[in-house]
Order: sequence, then C-alpha cells, then structure tokens
Amino acid sequence: MRPRENDAAAAENRRGRVGGLLLAGVVFLVGVAVVVAVYGGLRSNQRENAERVMDQRTAMVEAAVRTETERYRSLIETTAAGISTDTDLTWDDFDTATAPLASANLIGGASLAYVVPAREAQIPEVQRQWRARGAEGLTLRPVVAGEEHFFTIFTRTLNAYSPQMNGLDVAAAPEAATALTDSRRTGQPSVSDTYVLLRDRNLPAAEQQRSFVFAAPIWTQASIPVFRGWIILGLRGADFLRGVLATVSQGQLDGELLATGRDGGRPVVADYTVGGQPDLQRSVDILVADREWTLITRADASHLPGASSTLPLTLLLTGSAMTFLLAGLVYVLATGRERAVARVRVATAELRVAEEESRRQAELLGAIMASIGDAVGVVDENGAFLLHNPAARKMLGVAADEDDPASWQQHYGLYRPDGRTPFPVEDLPLMRALRGESCDGVEMIVRNAQHSEGILVSVDGRPLDTSAGRHGAVAVFHDITELRRYENDLAVFAGVVAHDLKSPLTVIRGHCEAAVEDLDDAPADARGSLGRIILAVDRMAALIDTLLAYTTARDAPLRTREVDLGALVGAVVHDRTAHLRDEDQPHIYVGPLPAVTADPAMLRHVLDNLLGNALKYVQPGTVPRVDVTAHGTGGPWVRIQVADRGIGIPDDDKPDIFDSFHRAHAEAGYAGTGLGLAICRRIVERHGGEIDVADNPGGGTRFHFTLPISQESDMTKDDEAATRAALERALAERAAMENARLPGLGALPAAEPSAHDPAAARLRTPVPDHHPAPAGPE
Ligand code: ADP
Repeated sequence: MRPRENDAAAAENRRGRVGGLLLAGVVFLVGVAVVVAVYGGLRSNQRENAERVMDQRTAMVEAAVRTETERYRSLIETTAAGISTDTDLTWDDFDTATAPLASANLIGGASLAYVVPAREAQIPEVQRQWRARGAEGLTLRPVVAGEEHFFTIFTRTLNAYSPQMNGLDVAAAPEAATALTDSRRTGQPSVSDTYVLLRDRNLPAAEQQRSFVFAAPIWTQASIPVFRGWIILGLRGADFLRGVLATVSQGQLDGELLATGRDGGRPVVADYTVGGQPDLQRSVDILVADREWTLITRADASHLPGASSTLPLTLLLTGSAMTFLLAGLVYVLATGRERAVARVRVATAELRVAEEESRRQAELLGAIMASIGDAVGVVDENGAFLLHNPAARKMLGVAADEDDPASWQQHYGLYRPDGRTPFPVEDLPLMRALRGESCDGVEMIVRNAQHSEGILVSVDGRPLDTSAGRHGAVAVFHDITELRRYENDLAVFAGVVAHDLKSPLTVIRGHCEAAVEDLDDAPADARGSLGRIILAVDRMAALIDTLLAYTTARDAPLRTREVDLGALVGAVVHDRTAHLRDEDQPHIYVGPLPAVTADPAMLRHVLDNLLGNALKYVQPGTVPRVDVTAHGTGGPWVRIQVADRGIGIPDDDKPDIFDSFHRAHAEAGYAGTGLGLAICRRIVERHGGEIDVADNPGGGTRFHFTLPISQESDMTKDDEAATRAALERALAERAAMENARLPGLGALPAAEPSAHDPAAARLRTPVPDHHPAPAGPE
C-alpha cells in the first residue's frame, strides 16, 4: 500500500475505533443506569415489604403481649374475686380455685400464691390459723424488720422447676411489696416493678431472671369490705417475652420490654435476641394492669419473609455482565465495518500492486515477443490463436489468423521441404504439441502471397498449460532459409576445394607416373625423385582431404538419421583391410552394435579415424589387434569402444590428444597430421556425445565415444532421405556449374572421388584416410 493510502486507512481506522468506543461507552452507561435503577427499585420494594412485615409482626407481638398480660390480670382478678367469697379459705379451696390457672398455659408464669398481711405481733396467730386451714407445716419467715409483712400462705407452682415456697415474706422484695400495697389501696390489680423472684434468688446468677408479679387484692363482698390478702402471680420476664415472641414473630424479631418504674425509670422487664443485624425498629406502649409498658421490637430486614431475596443482586450482576457484553458487541459491530473497510482497502491495494506487476510482466513479455526475431505462436486447446508476435505475422506472411487447424496448411501455405508436398495438418508441430508431443527442428516451406518464392522454416513445438488447467501449444519458428543457403554454399565450397586443389595434384601425379615409365633407363636418382614427388603429392592430397573433413566436421549441416552401426563398422573394416595380404590381416573383432541416430558420413569418418589409428600405431612387425564393442549407458545413449593393443598414448599427451595438430608419436616415424582425433571430437560433440581416451589394460589404447540410440520413425527417415536427396541434387548441380566455369581443369583426368559429383561424394563417403607412410624420406 502507498504511504498516503496507509495514513488515510490508519486515520479512518482510528476514527472508527474511537466512534465504536464512544458508542459502546454510551450503551454501557445506559445499560448500567437501567440495571442500577431496576436494582434500586427492587431494593426499595424489598425495603417496603420489610417495613410492612415489621409493622405486621410488631402489631402481632403487641397484641400478644397485651392479650397475655390482660389475661393474667383478669385471671388473677377473677381468682381473687372467687376467693373473696370464701370466708374460711382452706388449701383445698385455693387449690380448686387456682386449678384452671395451672392449665391456662401462662407464658413465663412461675407461681401463683395466696398472700396475707401480718404485723409482727400477729405472725404466730396467723401461722396457727392458716396451719389449721390446711397450710401444713407453714412457717412464716419474716425477713425484714418492719410493721407489716406479706406472707405467702398457699402456693401453686406453674412450672416444673419452681418449688413450692410457702411462708416467704414478700416484703423482702420491695418491688413486689409496693405492688401489693398499691393494689390494696386501689382495690385494682397491680403489677410490680421488675425484680428477681424470691424463689429464684437461690438459683445461679446466670439463671436468675428479671421478673414481675401481678397482684390482685381480695376484698370481701360485705357492705363494709374486709381486706383478706392477695393473689399474686409471679412471672419471669425473659420466659414471658421469649414465649410470646417465639410464637408470634416466628423467631424473626428481637424484643425488649420496658416497664415504667414507680420512680419514673424505665427498667427492662425482659429482652430477647434472635441474632442478625437489626435495622428495623418499632416501639409501642402497652397498658399492663396499672402500668404503662413499652414494647420495642427490632428485626434484621433481610430475615423477614418477602423482604429479602438474591434477585436484586443477581439482577445487578447478570445485568452488569450483559451490559458489558452488549457494549462489547456494539464495539465489535461498530468497528467491524471499519475493519472490513480497512481490510478491503489493503486487499485492493495489494490487488493493484499485483495488477501493476502483472501488467508490467505482460508489457515486458509483449516487448520481448515484439523484439525477438524468432516467430512465436500460442494456440489454445482448439487451435485458436491466443498470441503471436510481429515476427510470426511477418514470417507466416498472412495478416489474418486462421483458428481452424484444418485450414492452416492452405491458409499459410505450408509445404514439406521439397516445396511441393502440402504439409499434413496432423504432423504440424502445433498439432503434435496439442497431442502432448514435443518436437524440434521440423522443417517446412512457407509459400504464400507474401513469400512467393517460399522460405524454409524450422519449427519447435511444445505442449503448454495456458491457464486454469487448459491446454494449448506453443511453437517457435526460425527462418533458416539463409542458413540453409550458407550451408549449401559451404558444401559447394568444399566440393570446389576438393576438386580444384586436388585436380592439379592428380595432374602432377599422372605426369610423374608417366615420366617414371618414360624414364625407365634414367638414373636411379631421377626416378627416386619422381617417386618422392608422387608420395608428396599423395600426402598433399590426403592433407587436403583431412582439412576438408576438418572444416566439414565443424560447419557442414548435421544430417542425422538412423544408422546401422554394425554395418557401418563392417564397411570401414572392409575398406581398411580388403587390399591387405592374408598374412598382413589384422585381428579385428566387432561386437554386436546397435542402430544409432547420427550423420552416417560423419560417423563413418569417426570410425575410420579411430580404426585407422588403431591399425597404425602398433610396433612395427606386429599384427594389430582391435576390438570394436558397444555398451548401453542406461539412458538413450550408447557407448562405443575401440580398443587396440598398440603402442599406447603417454599419460602426458592424453589431455591434449583431441586438440588440433597434437601428435604424441611424431618423432617415431608414424605419418599423420594431428587432425584426426580433433575431427572425431567435433563430430561426436556435434551429435551431443562425448569422446575420451584411456589406457587399455594389458597394453594399448581404448577410445570411447557416445551416440544417441536410434528412436526415429520411418516417417522422419523418409523425410530426411528425401531432403537429403533434394539437397544433394542441388549441390551436384552447383558443382557441375562450377566445373563448367573451369573448362581447363575440367578437361584434365579427374581423381576419385571428386571426378564427378564431388559434393555428393563428400556427403556419402568419408575422406580416405592417410596411410602409414612407407619407410623413406618424405
Ligand atoms: P595423426 O594424424 O597424427 O594420427 P590423430 O589426431 O589421429 O593424428 O592422432 C593424434 C595423435 O594421437 C597421434 O599422432 C598419435 O600419437 C596418437 N594416437 C592416436 N591414436 C592412437 C592409438 N590408437 N594408439 C596410440 N597412439 C595414438
């Protein structure tokens, strides 16, 4: 991406992120506000519920306390009234009258007692009197010194753990004594301030409770009422309050009961705690007998039914979490578009770069195609042209493309190299390539309106994967008209050289031989000179042939075809040995040899050179031994070996032995030019092969060279033969013309093989090799 686009994309990205963040923030705040509001609503609802429940429970407790105390008051009042009618109250009467109270389930009730007043002096009399009425063993035990004592005569305990305690002096508890005197004075039941019941004072301190008594005076019903005593009901404050609260508030309320003391104080009658952290409180005043008490209730709102639930907290937590998630989602959605846009922008920029690159590549390819001299054409799987360069248009000479392969031959004017046979469509390189076959150097003549004389074209075809798995083919066309012309000229030159240089030699040789015959009786010196001239002429002729072969090996066109290597070696051996006497025949073994793809004339030259050397470089007087064999290489190549038992090649010479004019045994008297192996190397290398030399174990030398094993079809062979024939005809005609231009030389006796059709002879047969020179001066 370009820097400016980069900055713009980054800025937009940033803007998108900030916008998304703001939106998410707003959603979060709104969500939190809603959740908090709902939470607050629920909480206040709960609070209201708690208050209501508290009010209800307090009212119930108040009612219970009021009802119970009123019940106690009325019970003892009723009991007192009942007893007041009995002038001779006995234990049994008391027992009967108070029996209902025992079963009245008085909460907190400790005891019920019949109490009478007695002055100090009256005590024995009172004791006696009440003993007589059934208070067995009654012993009045005054505690405090004072005018008046209040003794319990009959006692009924109201729960199991309170022992019967008759004869107690209630005056020992001033609170109770006050209540007694108050009730006697007012004639109404009275309730005492709190104190520890006399009967409880022997208990351990922890078990002692603040208690109180209800006292109801007993006045007779006479016209002048006579005071008899009191019925008092002792109640333990804590038991009372616990009993009432536990029943009514179901253990959810704390309670505190405050009395109003006669001194105006607010002593605590009882308190009761259920635990928790009370946050609600109610306070109500209750009239108990002649006093006003205050009931205080407290409760932990969370313990009240309907007032506590985990719903608000759950809602707060889940609501917050969902708000957070929602805000996150909003952020992702809000920034998602920007992210997508940024990604698209990046992808677009990359695409643009890729497009620019591919356009550059296409332009480069177009420029290359436009600039190269060779013609290139690409067709799709149906043969329709996808591409061709200007050189192709120019070379084919037709402006409009023809997409139907069946019409290509006529449209472009394509012929076999003979210039007459229409080129079969199915053999066209592009068609072969469409069938998946590669081919090189397929020659054809293009002759049409643009090229009226025709041009010779060499075509390479290759299968091609065009795009998306579709097949196609590409062909490269080289115009080889000029090249072929040059080759022909070279062949003509070779023929001319062969003829024109060797013809005078032939003349000299002829004249020398004639002179030798004519000078039969001439001095031996003169005839010797003539003999040496003849030898020199022969060497010169051989040298010319060698130089010609050397040039041909380098420049002459390679005309490969299938060659029967065995037959070719046989012919060379025959040429080399046919003229020898039986006793001079060398030992030559020729193994099984395959057919190879090679230029037969050139290959013959190689074999002739190697065999000639193998026969030549032997110790004088020894019979040469040569083995010609071939081995496969595992590929499409065959390795041919020519091994001898001759004098061998020194190691120092081996690296240079294939160089031109390099000779290893020049001073040993072996005739030669030092060109034979150089020619061999050129020919082998032009066939794509390699040549090397090595010692032959046991003495002698081994030469190896490789050649392609033949794979050519009959069709190609026929084409090659036809082409060869046509070309040879052309060369022969040219040579004949050259001969005609040199009438003087043409009249001379011609030496073989150039006497007639010299060029054709060069192509058909290898140059005769140089033979070992006879001993004697050269
Ligand atoms: P020349 O015309 O001298 O034979 P070549 O190129 O054929 O030229 O050979 C080059 C040199 O290699 C020869 O001069 C010779 O010394 C050596 N040579 C070639 N073939 C053989 C062989 N079969 N045995 C020994 N020496 C050889």
